[in-house]
Amino acid sequence: MSNRPALPPEIARRRTFAIISHPDAGKTTLTEKFLLFGGAIQMAGQVRAKGEARRTRSDFMKLEQDRGISVSASAMSFEYGTYRYNLVDTPGHSDFSEDTYRTLTAVDAAIMVIDGAKGVESQTRKLFEVCRLRDLPILTFCNKMDRESRETFEIIDEIQENLAIDVAPASWPIGVGREFLGCYDMLHDRLELMDRADRNKVAESIKISGLDDPKLAEHVPADLLEKLREEVEMARELLPTFDRQSFLEGHMTPIWFGSAINSFGVKELMDGIGEFGPEPEVFHTAERDVAPEEKKVAGFVFKVQANMDPKHRDRVAFVRLVSGHFERGQKLFHVRSKKPMAVSNPVLFLAADRELAEEAWGGDIIGIPNHGQLRIGDALTEGETLRFTGIPSFAPELLQSVRATDPMKGKHLEKALMQFAEEGAAKVFKPAIGSGFIVGVVGALQFDVLASRIELEYGIPVRFEPSQFTSARWVQGDKVAVEKLVNANKQHISYDHDGDIVFLTRLQWDIDRVVRDYEGVTLSATKEMM
Ligand code: GDP
Repeated sequence: MSNRPALPPEIARRRTFAIISHPDAGKTTLTEKFLLFGGAIQMAGQVRAKGEARRTRSDFMKLEQDRGISVSASAMSFEYGTYRYNLVDTPGHSDFSEDTYRTLTAVDAAIMVIDGAKGVESQTRKLFEVCRLRDLPILTFCNKMDRESRETFEIIDEIQENLAIDVAPASWPIGVGREFLGCYDMLHDRLELMDRADRNKVAESIKISGLDDPKLAEHVPADLLEKLREEVEMARELLPTFDRQSFLEGHMTPIWFGSAINSFGVKELMDGIGEFGPEPEVFHTAERDVAPEEKKVAGFVFKVQANMDPKHRDRVAFVRLVSGHFERGQKLFHVRSKKPMAVSNPVLFLAADRELAEEAWGGDIIGIPNHGQLRIGDALTEGETLRFTGIPSFAPELLQSVRATDPMKGKHLEKALMQFAEEGAAKVFKPAIGSGFIVGVVGALQFDVLASRIELEYGIPVRFEPSQFTSARWVQGDKVAVEKLVNANKQHISYDHDGDIVFLTRLQWDIDRVVRDYEGVTLSATKEMM
């Protein structure tokens, strides 16, 4: 990374990231403050009471419902300082989903939000592990410092121990709970004071020359000041100092303390992403590595969102541009179909509204409305055949069969299911024998979400029922052997939405048997989406 050439300025100033957190840690609030400071929305609103149902939709939709602002997109761009930020949404429901995983393949960094009173929670750990698979740089925001929180050292220790990552304090909290005053900026020797009177105001920043500066005493009561000096001294002795390279390699996370609801610490965090990066990264394809500074446009679809506007059955494919300078109207090469595609109405999501994207650069996320040609994993280039790697499709862990409660509507159910399969919201298998479908998901809540979406978006009430199968494996390998397997095991065979063969069973024994008896056949729990 360090010996890469300097990027063109337009690319170098882009920061593309996602926020990961356990529910309730403050992701939505932080997102809202980002957009507020980025000038994307005018006013931050109040959070209303919430139930589990809200989590089933994207957090941006949650923002929309709660605060009455129009966002409805999976990615949003805003400008702040000299940087252009692309914030990509990760779904908020507590069932870990593939969607989240794929989102994390499209960003260059993640912000991990933790609740200062709760520390590292189950979902934090799961998402962190996903980031680790890619060595994604992570910035940590310890939120809710205006409430009773744990001791600062304890929080840092817990992250280090639990997640096995070095933690370097970028700021240090002064007081906690009702006594929380603000932070000492350890990287720039500044005092940041929180304004409790105005929740949307950026904190006052006071330049000081280190912890011995007499100016400190004008702003910080003696007891808190003494504690601060002691703690910072100890922190400098015991904790690692921030090392940019180590951060970019995913081994170290800088941590800021703050209170999203009071807009405190948010600006420092944004400045941190700007200052430390990362800049748009190199991406891998089966053919070669693609660098952001390359002149030609290349990108891949990491998410498909159907029915964004219920009045039009349009779908938007979200594309991470990996390289080049894209201009509206440009013809791109759709690698899977080997066909050119004129991208005449790409959208950039500039918070308040969709906006036509006149141009975009490596690092940006654009939305391309289409009628189903674009699928997750698809590559778009200027003619070269590239297949981006590392966008997996997981074996679902839960299988159920589904049917329409009104048999007259059964015909349309297939269409609806295929749509969701292409969107990546579920796996849909059509058994070789009999009628009906088997749906596979990673988390149980997804069945409820699917049932309500099928009814809402297609007007088909459905019922999910236990299936006789519990495992799905993609069948690959030698053509003759695969054919033999299929013919001799029809009751286990089904086809996914791409027509690929999937072996369904409830017994591990069956899987072992197939592997033993059919030489040249592999059963795989994931399939790369290309
Ligand atoms: P998410 O589930 O991670 O998106 O969390 P939300 O942003 O919806 O926040 C969860 C709850 O914590 C809401 O009631 C917020 O108002 C509250 N909250 C968020 N940030 C803060 C903070 O800095 N201090 C306090 N006291 N509450 C906060």
